[in-house]
Amino acid sequence: MLRAVPDFPEPGIQFKDLTPLLADAHGLAVVTDALAQPAQAADLVAGIDARGFLLGAAVAIRLGTGVLAVRKGGKLPPPVRTETYSLEYGTAALEIPADGIDLTGRSVFIIDDVLATGGTVAATVKLLQHAGATVTGAAVVLELGALGGRAALAGLPVTSLHTV
Ligand code: AMP
Repeated sequence: MLRAVPDFPEPGIQFKDLTPLLADAHGLAVVTDALAQPAQAADLVAGIDARGFLLGAAVAIRLGTGVLAVRKGGKLPPPVRTETYSLEYGTAALEIPADGIDLTGRSVFIIDDVLATGGTVAATVKLLQHAGATVTGAAVVLELGALGGRAALAGLPVTSLHTV
């Protein structure tokens, strides 16, 4: 239920596509329950653009919390909070609304599909902390162990359901 696509989106990258897993009723339920386990103490779930939206919303419903979509740069109307981070080539940005949702003192748990170098989750942690939230941890379906994401997130409890 996990499709590996060579040389996508760039030569040398093996893209892990979770679409078949998410489209399977039993698979989605099992993954949602497992991701929700370490998130119990949170009062808000943050799902990272874009597959993290699906999983984050499913986990939030399980926990009885709301979900915050952490968007790629340029998708949200102003005012926004922005965190810029490095990719292998160039930079990227993640954003959340700076208005309309008060994160001060909230306990937020981060959900995404894949942990690679950890830069995306690290930027999300900074974004949420700068907004006044406490990040209680992060969970992903798949961890690409060789890329060192867990080490890059030292101090943050990280759960992965599967490591390759
Ligand atoms: P990173 O910031 O390097 O940990 O990258 C994690 C983010 O990029 C996640 O939002 C993933 O969806 C995506 N990503 C990175 N590498 C892959 C991969 N090999 N297959 C699928 N998604 C990936």
